[in-house]
Amino acid sequence: MSTPVHNDTTEPLKPSNFLRQIIDADLAQGTHANNRWAGTPGDAAHQQAGALDPARIRTRFPPEPNGYLHVGHAKSICLNFGLARDYGGVCHLRFDDTNPEKEEQEYVDAIIDAVHWLGFDWKDPDGHENLYFASNYFDFMYRAAEYLIESGNAYVDEQTADEMRANRGDFGKPGVDSPYRGRTPAENLARFRQMRDGVLADGAAVLRAKIDMASPNINLRDPAIYRIKRAEHHNTGDKWCIYPMYTFAHPIEDALECITHSICTLEFEDQRPFYDWLLDRLAEGGLIAQPHPRQYEFARLNLTYVVTSKRKLRHLVDNGIVSGWDDPRMPTIAGLRRRGYTPASIQAFCERIGVTKDYSWIDYATLEGCLREDLEAKAHRAMVVLDPLKLELTNWAEVFGSGDHLEPCSLPALPHAAEGETVPERRFSLGREVWIEREDFAELPPKGYKRLFPSNRVRLKGGYVIECTGCEKDAAGNVTKVLATVVPDTKSGTPGADSVKVKAAITWVGVADGVQAEVRLYDRLFTDAQPDAGGKDYLALLNPDSLKVVTAYVEPSLAAAQAEDKFQFERFGYFVADRKDHAPAKPVFNRVTGLKDSWGK
Ligand code: ATP
Ligand code: MG
Repeated sequence: MSTPVHNDTTEPLKPSNFLRQIIDADLAQGTHANNRWAGTPGDAAHQQAGALDPARIRTRFPPEPNGYLHVGHAKSICLNFGLARDYGGVCHLRFDDTNPEKEEQEYVDAIIDAVHWLGFDWKDPDGHENLYFASNYFDFMYRAAEYLIESGNAYVDEQTADEMRANRGDFGKPGVDSPYRGRTPAENLARFRQMRDGVLADGAAVLRAKIDMASPNINLRDPAIYRIKRAEHHNTGDKWCIYPMYTFAHPIEDALECITHSICTLEFEDQRPFYDWLLDRLAEGGLIAQPHPRQYEFARLNLTYVVTSKRKLRHLVDNGIVSGWDDPRMPTIAGLRRRGYTPASIQAFCERIGVTKDYSWIDYATLEGCLREDLEAKAHRAMVVLDPLKLELTNWAEVFGSGDHLEPCSLPALPHAAEGETVPERRFSLGREVWIEREDFAELPPKGYKRLFPSNRVRLKGGYVIECTGCEKDAAGNVTKVLATVVPDTKSGTPGADSVKVKAAITWVGVADGVQAEVRLYDRLFTDAQPDAGGKDYLALLNPDSLKVVTAYVEPSLAAAQAEDKFQFERFGYFVADRKDHAPAKPVFNRVTGLKDSWGK
């Protein structure tokens, strides 16, 4: 077995997969050893004039700029950019903007941002950026179409759409030749130029590849390759009124960019014979460099509890069901980022789920697990109170000499020190009044309850042991304040602190130095694990509790938090200072995910 090549020798070898095996074999056989690359995309003559390609492989990530990228795209990004990185290659970022109507600059910017944020770039070894727009290849695509016509491999069909559909046949039935199929190359060329020159109406004719109307693969039954569409294109304006079909454009884009391994999702498996047919014809004609790119398919990511169709995501945005493409509940990369996911956790997730040809669903918990693993050792700990109830230590003045006394306390900010460093500390103070979680007090404790109830003792974490003496209530019987006494000489970290045994330590925040904060408790957007599978109406499966906003108190160390800083709020999980709305004077934290081990009794 051949060994994968790594340009970073400190990295452990990645587990192999079928794509790595293909690349290993290509490298061993020198399949692309003689590829030339002129530094920019172009036809055979252009590339031939270039030097030997310094990139050992070229892959590409080709999004259509018609929406924000989602977690499924992240899989494709990590795969394509990851393979290029691991094999001494380059991955191009290519905007597949051949469809004139849908592209927007906002999406282009967001896509560039998302791929960069995930940790990738598209530079050649010499630093040249491989960021391309497929619409820049329209001239070549047109030339390729004329070449197919001249070589007897394409014809202009003027059947109606209905006739074309009927004559295509189906799985059991071969297609029927179009009456226009026998036109001569000269007739086809003249007619195709009329299409280009705007002589024919939209939809009046299409250019079709001339392959085999009886092929068992319906995609080879003379697929359409150019259509007439009077539409303004964001890049080429109204230069064209004919546009290439995706299945024609995509292989050409790959070929012009000297892509070696064109990796796509399994839906395109049946298109591969056409991909090869087209590039074989263009290579024969000397239009594109050889060997031409090869297409390989893998199974797309299906993640539970989310939808990943851009159309459905757009619906959620356009109808105000979420606050935008970057709403922290969205499975978009911008949404995951705002939610608090890290690039490392998403990369680890893509690595973990692997690459196969098998259709499967990945549990959302796998993604959450990757985030916890990334943050466990890194995220500073902090205490917060999400559902505040005031507690008064009624003997405070007696014990400390003044009701206003503040006792300095501290706890480690991390469970372990990083190598060569000491564990950072967080400081806060304990005073006469503290905020505790409402659920940490019970006037009548349920069986097994170990937290605060009259006569019971608990430790205020990092502070003193206290003993509950009762509570105050309003007219409706709601508890408004818990009363307790502090037990002297029990401060955490002081000699003898443990002489008083308690069964629970509760989290708290001082009333004197606690900081008020908005905390957004996000949950799954859908209640169903597969909200749009099998024709289900995903809009009927929205989780009404996917966002709960609370006013919380957080410990003073969080006053210094910057947007996107991540924390572990003790007992509640991982939180992030919101990328958009957080400000030191008005802190806003988002819940990323809970802790694996849920809070005990
Ligand atoms: P949608 O159908 O939601 O519009 P798309 O696949 O058409 O998504 P593109 O912008 O064309 O979106 O996708 C860019 C690349 O991302 C393609 O190569 C596609 O194969 C890949 N991709 C899209 N969705 C997934 C997914 N769920 N898993 C893996 N790769 C994906
Ligand atoms: Mg698409």
